Amino acid sequence: MVRLLLRFGEEIVDQPIVSEIILELKVPINIITALVNSKGGEVLAEVPQEAMDKVVAALRKRGATVSLPKLIEVETEKCISCGSCVSLCPVEAITLDNELSVVFSKEKCVGSTCSACVDACPVKAIKSVKQNNHELINSRLKGVTGKKR
Ligand code: SF4
Ligand code: SF4
Repeated sequence: MVRLLLRFGEEIVDQPIVSEIILELKVPINIITALVNSKGGEVLAEVPQEAMDKVVAALRKRGATVSLPKLIEVETEKCISCGSCVSLCPVEAITLDNELSVVFSKEKCVGSTCSACVDACPVKAIKSVKQNNHELINSRLKGVTGKKR
């Protein structure tokens, strides 16, 4: 599965875009987090790798903006085991082991839609990093685009 960050502007946020695409393409789309109000929405979703191109094209055709969420990386050698990130993480993606070393779960982390730990770390051991996905970047260059906002 590939995680995608979807943004819906005010003019389309009330439309059932994700449901339509699931039905039209018969592709499962897993919503991980969603922040939606009348001004717009930001949704972190997972789609199967093999269906990514057509899902991205369908989203952009309907006016959504699609990008790859930034991921979190932890430099364990910098960590002073203060525990700040552990207590803040909303999805328990960070724990301390028996030796008080930080253990980070990439699968659980919701990445740049959260970033609470990045700001909390007193020694800057946690950073937000861009992903490289050539297929998504190429589909952008090929102009699989929707409405520009
Ligand atoms: S970015 Fe958020 S979800 Fe991910 S590890 Fe940090 S606090 Fe947890
Ligand atoms: S906030 Fe930083 S220093 Fe504290 S436990 Fe987490 S990674 Fe380590």
